[in-house]
Amino acid sequence: MSESPSVFSRIIAGEIPADVVYDSERVIAFKDIAPQAPVHLLVVPKTEEYANVGELAAGDPELLAEVVETAQRLADEHADGDFRLVFNTGPGAGQTVFHVHAHVLAGGLTEGSLV
Ligand code: 5GP
Repeated sequence: MSESPSVFSRIIAGEIPADVVYDSERVIAFKDIAPQAPVHLLVVPKTEEYANVGELAAGDPELLAEVVETAQRLADEHADGDFRLVFNTGPGAGQTVFHVHAHVLAGGLTEGSLV
């Protein structure tokens, strides 16, 4: 199930095209290929070291903070600043890419829905 390198590492390396909306030294963000909301962005640490948000929080809390700050900035730029931040963790929760990433969902979300 986990690939090495992950599909996101291949995007970071420029081997797979993506619609990149943010790119810093440690974090990249691009549009999800199968959007689940009017605005659906993925914020991805460039390191492959962490499979999920729990590992990232334990291993590099400053990098997790940069992911969250990036999510807010992108929601400000691409929507009205309101957003849902989703970290699927484990196959049972729908995680398919085991390279930690945050889903930023924004713009006309269904009220009351969690996904
Ligand atoms: P997960 O299910 O692991 O939380 O989220 C993985 C996300 O990556 C999915 O929403 C899926 O649509 C997205 N995704 C998978 N492959 C690609 C790709 O090659 N390019 C882009 N932009 N998104 C991808």
